[in-house]
Amino acid sequence: MTAELMRSTTDADTVHPSPTADTRGRGLHDLRISVTDRCNFRCVYCMPKEIFGRDHAFLPQEHLLSFEEIVRVTRAGIANGVRKLRLTGGEPLLRRDIEQLVGMLSRLRTADGHPLDIAMTTNGTALAHKAASLRAAGLSRLTVSLDSLDDEVFRRMNDIDFPVARVLDGISAAQAAGFASIKVNTVVKRGVNDHDVLSIAEHFRGTGITVRFIEFMDVGTTNGWNLEEVTPSVEVIARIDAVHPLEPLPARYPGETATRWRYRDGAGEIGVISSVSAPFCGSCGRARVSADGKLFTCLFASGGHDLRALLRAGCSDAALEASLAGIWSARGDRYSELRSAMGSDSSSRQGERVEMSYIGG
Ligand code: SAM
Ligand code: SF4
Ligand code: SF4
Repeated sequence: MTAELMRSTTDADTVHPSPTADTRGRGLHDLRISVTDRCNFRCVYCMPKEIFGRDHAFLPQEHLLSFEEIVRVTRAGIANGVRKLRLTGGEPLLRRDIEQLVGMLSRLRTADGHPLDIAMTTNGTALAHKAASLRAAGLSRLTVSLDSLDDEVFRRMNDIDFPVARVLDGISAAQAAGFASIKVNTVVKRGVNDHDVLSIAEHFRGTGITVRFIEFMDVGTTNGWNLEEVTPSVEVIARIDAVHPLEPLPARYPGETATRWRYRDGAGEIGVISSVSAPFCGSCGRARVSADGKLFTCLFASGGHDLRALLRAGCSDAALEASLAGIWSARGDRYSELRSAMGSDSSSRQGERVEMSYIGG
């Protein structure tokens, strides 16, 4: 362990607050760090096989932020207001010794001294044997992506013929490990899995697991996005409500991505993430860090700010915090609102954009 790391994880890490607002008055609350750009799945809406083939050049190991560097970036985020951290990817469970990183991060405290809320989004393929060790390392919340319960559809969507039963086993292992919160993410693609919405909702009704149905988004440039393939959240809600009546719930905090609904009979809740039909840029306080240490202030940004270069040039914690503050205070992103204003013209999108597997979902 380096001296820097010893310091960063043994001081109980109560970092003093210096909340930073962007040009639209949005604070930085939520940091999502991609720990690898690699994935064992080739989900059709994220890493299509034709583009991410056998010879695809993923980042070399030395380009990835080290665990010590991830801890430093997180500390700088906390100093600028971050209260929630999400580890993502690519597939985060492919990163070797990920439990060790979770353990290091779990010792950090928010600016007002609370334990940092650490979540992870995973495809669940390695959960059956990793859930207990992740929980023991201090992971607070888990989101598992699951697009269909129909094995054939699931295998087609992950495009590596992976059986849905093994992801369901992973979710059971997470329940047994005692996670305080488990969520399921379902990306709904019209004509592909929109007919599965009700069965997924019913499978998790009454289990304490909240399913969040996500509108298929135009992230990156390789997933062949088309507005016709988006199933709007109102349709998802209507389909479930017709069988199991729902009522809306208020947001738990400003900037919550999902709109919440509860079953009127008390069997739990579901959420919808309507980034296409009802953009929520107005309250977006999320920053993303790619596996090679670039900071992106919007999921749809074309370029990032190279934090790794700063870290490896020996910058101090104070300089890193100031750099983050400078980047965030210049931020004016509101891509989804602009896409919405473009209407159907939005399918003819211009310019370079990073892929979700690189920037982190
Ligand atoms: N591999 C992990 C997983 O799938 O859970 C974490 C990374 S993945 C990029 C994070 C989330 O982004 C997943 O829930 C995935 O379904 C979602 N996602 C990926 N591409 C998407 C798209 N085009 N539209 C909407 N959600 C997408
Ligand atoms: Fe991999 Fe997650 Fe993208 Fe699917 S959504 S290809 S599991 S990174
Ligand atoms: Fe935030 Fe950008 Fe998504 Fe808008 S489009 S909600 S600013 S990440």
